Amino acid sequence: MRFHVITIFPDIFDSYLNESIIGRAIKNKHISVKFYNPRDFTRPAKLKQSGVKDNGYRPVDDRPYGGGPGMVMRAEPLLKAVAKALSLSKGKSRKVLIINFIPTAEKFTTNFAKKVSKKYTDIILICGRYEGIDARVDKILKTKKLSIGDYVLTGGEIPAMILIDCVSRQIPRVLGKYESLEEERVSSSEVYTRPEILKYPFDNAQGKKSKNYKVPKVLLSGNHAEIEKWKLKK
Ligand code: SAM
Repeated sequence: MRFHVITIFPDIFDSYLNESIIGRAIKNKHISVKFYNPRDFTRPAKLKQSGVKDNGYRPVDDRPYGGGPGMVMRAEPLLKAVAKALSLSKGKSRKVLIINFIPTAEKFTTNFAKKVSKKYTDIILICGRYEGIDARVDKILKTKKLSIGDYVLTGGEIPAMILIDCVSRQIPRVLGKYESLEEERVSSSEVYTRPEILKYPFDNAQGKKSKNYKVPKVLLSGNHAEIEKWKLKK
């Protein structure tokens, strides 16, 4: 799976993509993540070709038609950045999905991640900022619009990281043997590890008596059928 991220803040992704399971998946070439900065596509082609030194600042955003606060990401640099990503995703066997993140769109789910991990070879992720992107980008590219939840963030970079993480987990060999097994098993949101009895507060400096927090008995029973039942209930 190749992820192509269209963002004006590529550095945001650095530490997350270099660590743990995702970092290992990139190192082992099970997934790849490429960045395309719309700012690199704001210089007029003519100037570029003529070699004229161009220090002019060309914004990636502009004021919204119809008024209102905030700025809108311009269509041209975004379309050019996506075109670059598409040019690197050419080939008969390539299947490309273009996603734009919008807080009010259909919710992203693990089920969706499972489906796209099987159906597509390349996913282009457009990370909006400000008031969002010019709506014509969606119309021209026929993007899939997705939300990661009922709240508003400052940009599409965190949603993109969430999608990359969740889809990557579905790619064969990204998860180790043990972790893959975990995906298929009944798991619960309530998990425990040692010690069997946790005394808290650790000391009674605040004058509070320590209380014993115990691991549920069923988890210590060795009765796997009962443990599975408990996990399902949780
Ligand atoms: N008024 C805009 C709207 O309702 O779409 C808010 C734009 S938000 C400040 C800037 C960008 O962050 C959006 O274009 C989108 O890419 C991203 N974003 C914010 N919250 C999101 C969410 N819950 N799910 C997906 N993307 C989100």
